[in-house]
Amino acid sequence: MPEAARYRKVDLHSHSNRSDGRFSPLELVDLAVEQGVTLFSLTDHDTLDGLAEARERAFEHGLSFINGVELSTQWNGIPLHMVALNFSADDSALLSIVEANQRIRLDRAQRIAELLVKQGLPNLFDEAVTLAGESQLGRPHFAALLVEKGFVKDTNKAFDRYLGNKKLGQLRDVWPELEEVLARLAGQGMELVLAHPKRYPLTVTKLKRLLSDFKKWGGTGIEIASGNERPDSVRLLERLSIEFDLKASVGSDYHGPFGPWMQLGKFTQIQESKVNLVWQSWD
Ligand code: AMP
Ligand code: MN
Ligand code: MN
Ligand code: MN
Repeated sequence: MPEAARYRKVDLHSHSNRSDGRFSPLELVDLAVEQGVTLFSLTDHDTLDGLAEARERAFEHGLSFINGVELSTQWNGIPLHMVALNFSADDSALLSIVEANQRIRLDRAQRIAELLVKQGLPNLFDEAVTLAGESQLGRPHFAALLVEKGFVKDTNKAFDRYLGNKKLGQLRDVWPELEEVLARLAGQGMELVLAHPKRYPLTVTKLKRLLSDFKKWGGTGIEIASGNERPDSVRLLERLSIEFDLKASVGSDYHGPFGPWMQLGKFTQIQESKVNLVWQSWD
């Protein structure tokens, strides 16, 4: 049994209300403990805001906590998410990327609001900003407003009709280039993990091209299990993690007790003995 198996239940991808999750960082850590998670990372979209308090709460519980963040980037015009793990929360390169992405989020929200107006909806920008408050503004805030105002019946429909990857989510040239983000973060000891690789509009051939670039530019890992990924996808990603020499990471991508999200600590089972695990070298 690999030494890393001492972490019985690992979850290295989750969201709090500092981005688009339901619970506060403290509530999330409490929930992780309740669910029996033993190694945990908070990975909010484009912010490090919740890390200090989550870390402190995790320490009180004796839960091993890893600093994390889910960065928005793009590759060949396709929006891609990268989870950075195990960094210092005052890392200046990371902070400057996060700050730039926060400005982009505001500009992008303006564009989204204008495009929704063109589709006959009211301008939701101000309300989206208010709804997001201190947290990172994103498409889920627009989705919530569309549901609340009765334009769609649920969040899923809001993404299907207006906000999803085939609609406004496909706005091109919004995010920083993956190559540039990796160049600024690689080689400093943090793990740079491609998030949920099966959720992008990519064929396996294109995904392999992405993984080849990702590795070449300094990426170190790949999420082989993310939430309720199909088992055959997980098997494929296990093989790709070996083929491209990228360490395997796992996470629920938990956002709250709504929508399609798995419970904290839950994701499709992986074959630990087959892959190198990102957490293998952490103490
Ligand atoms: P953004 O960060 O603004 O690009 O928004 C992306 C977020 O929207 C993802 O992290 C998910 O939390 C959420 N999301 C994407 N697709 C869906 C969907 N079909 N249903 C519910 N939430 C979704
Ligand atoms: Mn999200
Ligand atoms: Mn994501
Ligand atoms: Mn996520």
